[in-house]
Amino acid sequence: MASEIIDLTAAELATKLAAKELSAEDATKAHLDRISEVDSDVRAFLAINEHALSTAREIDARRASGEKLGELAGVPLAVKDVLVTTDMPTTSGSKILEGWMSPYDATVVARCRQADLVPLGKTNMDEFAMGSSTEHSAYGPTRNPWNLDRIPGGSGGGSAAAVAAFEAPFALGSDTGGSIRQPAHVTGTVGFKPTYGAVSRYGAIALASSLDQVGPCSRTVLDSALLHDVIAGHDHHDSTSLTDQWPSMAAAAREGARAENLKGLRVGVVKQIQGDGFQQGVRDGFAKTLELLVAAGAEIVEIDAPHFEYAVAAYYLILPAEASSNLAKFDSVRFGLRVTPAGGGTVEDVMSATREAGFGPEVKRRIILGTYALSAGYYDAYYGSAQKVRTLIQRDFDAAFTQADILISPTAPTTAFAFGEKTKDPLEMYLNDVTTIPANLAGIPAMSIPVDVAAEDGLPVGLQLMAPARADDRLYRVSATIERMLEEAAGMPFYARAPKTPAKGGAK
Ligand code: GLN
Repeated sequence: MASEIIDLTAAELATKLAAKELSAEDATKAHLDRISEVDSDVRAFLAINEHALSTAREIDARRASGEKLGELAGVPLAVKDVLVTTDMPTTSGSKILEGWMSPYDATVVARCRQADLVPLGKTNMDEFAMGSSTEHSAYGPTRNPWNLDRIPGGSGGGSAAAVAAFEAPFALGSDTGGSIRQPAHVTGTVGFKPTYGAVSRYGAIALASSLDQVGPCSRTVLDSALLHDVIAGHDHHDSTSLTDQWPSMAAAAREGARAENLKGLRVGVVKQIQGDGFQQGVRDGFAKTLELLVAAGAEIVEIDAPHFEYAVAAYYLILPAEASSNLAKFDSVRFGLRVTPAGGGTVEDVMSATREAGFGPEVKRRIILGTYALSAGYYDAYYGSAQKVRTLIQRDFDAAFTQADILISPTAPTTAFAFGEKTKDPLEMYLNDVTTIPANLAGIPAMSIPVDVAAEDGLPVGLQLMAPARADDRLYRVSATIERMLEEAAGMPFYARAPKTPAKGGAK
């Protein structure tokens, strides 16, 4: 019974819960049992919600009493530890916040609770969301359920691995430079970065405020769309939150899944973020998907985006600049850790000892980089130039979207890499973000869906889709069509190919 429950998508769970064929308690228990079974290997979770079962029972009681509940009531959910929660500690993957309890819930978490979703726990991540592998987490890395020797992506590797390992049907993540999409790519799951401002950032511990965006991840397109509908919409606590009335993303996904073909859709292939230098299996997966799109009637357009070449450089100036300012609040006074040097000292001594002990090497590296880029003598040369490049990249997108309705690329240059492969040289890790960063710099929606398994290593390959700002529903529509066509061709959904027992060296 339990193994059947964890196989269900969030949409399927919701249908069974509404029909009273399944209780929220049983749905929650099945996922908690699965966590007990596999998480000592996968290590997706930093904290488990002690109140999950009692929350589920209350939902069951309200349903039994005839109360009209939301569409997803009783469906379990995993929450990235960058989002503050009142009933579980929030660390953002850092020692400086170890054991810290927030006095309030992030807006997205509050909205999930209001929709009667059941938070199962908090998921692991690179410290303060800086990284692409979870190796920068102060609590040790998460492992990829497809092969425990490989990284699960980052920074949201915990959320993606939890979903890929059937520990949760869907999860919340955050994406500043790819942290929802790249983990989705390497774990064979779906991840969506909404339009900047579409989803509230209130209570999402800020990395780089002009780039951060909260979004969903799941095993299917529809499940991400369902979660997207719960969390999107204006929030007066976030001054960058858009006031748009959003169309239903779930309706768009359902419509896309029914579409017979992709006739009339102009699909742009961005020259600069594919091809040479990308792993063979990633290129093959992309080429096969292109053939599928052509067969479905889409028109393929080649897109030249000349400034994408400078996206990684611009991002790794803008991000540290904003991060150095955002992280100044971890000063030993207001939150978490406080380290007093032996023999005491001034406020500055305590602050310095605390930050020395509480921050890991990647966080320190970026704070130093950011404060340098912002210093009076270098501001124009570094930060100022990076902002100009950002504008040029936005213009590349504007031009591209006059020729194409959506843009596509591989989501990342390689499949899941091995632990330690990119930690020696930080630049190696940064370059991995070449494909995902442009969308953050432009604030546009982008997502990753699983399309193939690489022949050389048996690991998942994702397709990135990007659309103009505010056209999030377009991405759900098109990706649901592609997902359905791939499912028909393979005779099963992509997630059915994931190993049921996570193993070292893969489960082949
Ligand atoms: N890998 C990117 C970085 O290290 C992405 C981070 C993110 O999206 N949070 O900055």
